[in-house]
Amino acid sequence: MRNEEMLLIPGPTPVVDSIYDALAGETRSHTDPRFAAIYRSSIEKIKDMLKTDGEVFVIAGSGTVAMEMALVNTIAAGEKLLVISHGYFGDRFIKLGQAFGIEVDVLQSEWGKQVNPDEVERKLANGDFKAVTITHADTSTGVAANLDALVPIIKKHGALAIVDGVCATAAMEEDMSKAYGDPDHKIDVILTGSQKAIGVPPGLAIVAFNKTALAAREQIKNVPAYYCDIYNWIPIMNDPQKYFATPPVNLIYALEEGMRLVLEEGLEKRYKRHSAFGKAVRAALAVYGMNALAAEDAAAATLSCILYPQGMDDAAFRAALAKKGLIVAGALAHLAGKAFRIGHMGNTTERMLERAIVLIGETMNELGYSVDPSKAVECFKEFSSARTV
Ligand SMILES: *Cc1c(COP(=O)(O)O)cnc(C)c1O
Repeated sequence: MRNEEMLLIPGPTPVVDSIYDALAGETRSHTDPRFAAIYRSSIEKIKDMLKTDGEVFVIAGSGTVAMEMALVNTIAAGEKLLVISHGYFGDRFIKLGQAFGIEVDVLQSEWGKQVNPDEVERKLANGDFKAVTITHADTSTGVAANLDALVPIIKKHGALAIVDGVCATAAMEEDMSKAYGDPDHKIDVILTGSQKAIGVPPGLAIVAFNKTALAAREQIKNVPAYYCDIYNWIPIMNDPQKYFATPPVNLIYALEEGMRLVLEEGLEKRYKRHSAFGKAVRAALAVYGMNALAAEDAAAATLSCILYPQGMDDAAFRAALAKKGLIVAGALAHLAGKAFRIGHMGNTTERMLERAIVLIGETMNELGYSVDPSKAVECFKEFSSARTV
């Protein structure tokens, strides 16, 4: 890999050489048939990954644009949205909805824990909610949402199930063809970005709408958006030689390659790999006395939020790691200074993670702790090998 540093933050994630090569392709006209063919192919690959027969949108923008696109096209001003929040990114839907006059109600868990599905059931039974947002993996806490528990409840009450997969898509199962109990009970919208588990540089917003979600768009008539109005994009997604707003040509080259790698690995294998990496990283760090904020049965496969042992200086720890070429992220909000976040998703390799475990142990020893990196590595290997069995 050309990368000089190991970028193990919860996105952007390490970019592999073949994606850099794709990115460096000749910039052509956005209506050139050669580019249009690549754009079309990347959209088809996203459809294959999410197993949707609805519409997929791939446009310039970060994950937040994808969140906005999901909400404004499905929920009108004055309609009700229930936000299921496991942290900072779940909470982002509150302000986002409010900015468009949507009536937002929220169920927040204590950071590190999951919202109880019974509470969701109670809320939905007592209100006329148009939609519910689920953050599949909340990047602030490392908590995963249990789609198998939540989607059936949401669909039973006739609300749209909107899944924020920015830190999960391509690493944790998201299948729009999957029936959650009843044959009609499916995830309606999945939104994501390019820079997390897909492993492409930042800059693409990706959203999939099923037929039910498209019908919700139809009902709204005029949405309070222009760039994010899916009706301006449907003609382009179906015929990428048409123009609405210039797509980021080179990033689309990169996405096409990134998605080729995702499908080449295979979704089942990829989900298993991420699950094993997550468990392995958390188990190895626990050997150092560093425990994950989330309990193992609620922990995300893609990133972990790790609590520092007593007395650790966050800034000194992360600066020492950065000097060794390992970049991890600080924690957010009230956890700032008390925890760090490590990503283990996308095209991150077993070798990189093993190296990270060693560097973290060595750094702790330099900072006056006494830990055994070889023991942690042994533990890491034991769990990470589960991906191939
Ligand atoms: C990163 C992230 C976002 C925001 O994406 P940006 O690309 O930073 O706009 C939203 N939701 C989740 C779950 C994320 O991890």
